[in-house]
Amino acid sequence: MKLLVTGGAGYVGSVCAAHLVDAGHDVTVLDDLSTGHKDAVPDGAHLVHADLAEAAEEVLAEGFDGVLHFAAKSLVGESVARPELYWAGNVVTTFRLLEAMRKHGTPRLVFSSTAATYGEPERVPIPEDAPTRPTNPYGASKLAIDLAMTSYAAAHGLAAVSLRYFNVAGAHGRFGERHTVETHLIPIVLQVASGTREAVQVYGDDWPTPDGTCVRDYIHVDDLADAHLLALQHAEPGKHAIYNLGSGTGFSVRQVIEACREVTGHPIPMTAAPRRAGDPAVLIASSEAARTELGWQPHRTDLTTIVRDAWEFTRSRPA
Ligand code: UDP
Repeated sequence: MKLLVTGGAGYVGSVCAAHLVDAGHDVTVLDDLSTGHKDAVPDGAHLVHADLAEAAEEVLAEGFDGVLHFAAKSLVGESVARPELYWAGNVVTTFRLLEAMRKHGTPRLVFSSTAATYGEPERVPIPEDAPTRPTNPYGASKLAIDLAMTSYAAAHGLAAVSLRYFNVAGAHGRFGERHTVETHLIPIVLQVASGTREAVQVYGDDWPTPDGTCVRDYIHVDDLADAHLLALQHAEPGKHAIYNLGSGTGFSVRQVIEACREVTGHPIPMTAAPRRAGDPAVLIASSEAARTELGWQPHRTDLTTIVRDAWEFTRSRPA
């Protein structure tokens, strides 16, 4: 298929673009390189360096079979302090993309949504029909896009799939996580192991969990990419499908730090810090729907594998 990958120079976008190229698709990456990296665009993909809202219409006029939409603002704390960036950068930009797709008859959209659309869960594992009550503007902006996609599928026949990611981690060879502002646990812990950070702060050790630290569902970015290729194949005109993507297993912050110690051989000092606003105690996905309807099967659910791949990527980068 001829595919447009928005945000294909970012972490998840670049890994998915690499999988798509390997699967033989004709891939164009559209990225403004505001947080992405030019050298993260895989060989074989064509890069359009442009603002998505401005360029979507012109680029899609070429005729595409589908769009995989990763370009987004994705920092929870920033979204609380500056919500306008999230309503403009996520919601308005995606509306422009949807309109450009409608105008040019682009039939399929696979969207990078998030577990943050659910907010504090009533029960775990979280199924797709759980209430959506996001606790920050980031999650709210992604939910608004999901709702827009439902209406475009119903009214305009769009074949739409939203994939709600839990905690994405790991790397795919030279494609990995390298944010200028790093907020995610595994890359932060690995920064300690590689000597660029003194210690990891543990945000709360009195949570109602077995060891008192927050529990999350870590999914390997390669398993996540597999789900995107399956979503493309299964997208049906006039239908908006929503799937959670996680491994279905929870690991605590302490367990993650312990796995990083084992993989890196570094003692990784940790310090106690207050709870981070908006953090739920436990987030675990039910990915049953992705397994049964898409035939998705995550293969790299072991925490050591996830950390080892992230560590190899970290070590391969210049300090
Ligand atoms: N966390 C932590 N210290 C850090 C970064 C994260 O204790 O320096 C905790 C955070 O409170 C959460 C878990 O690690 O419970 C995963 O956080 P991350 O930001 O990676 O993902 P999130 O679950 O917020 O999407």
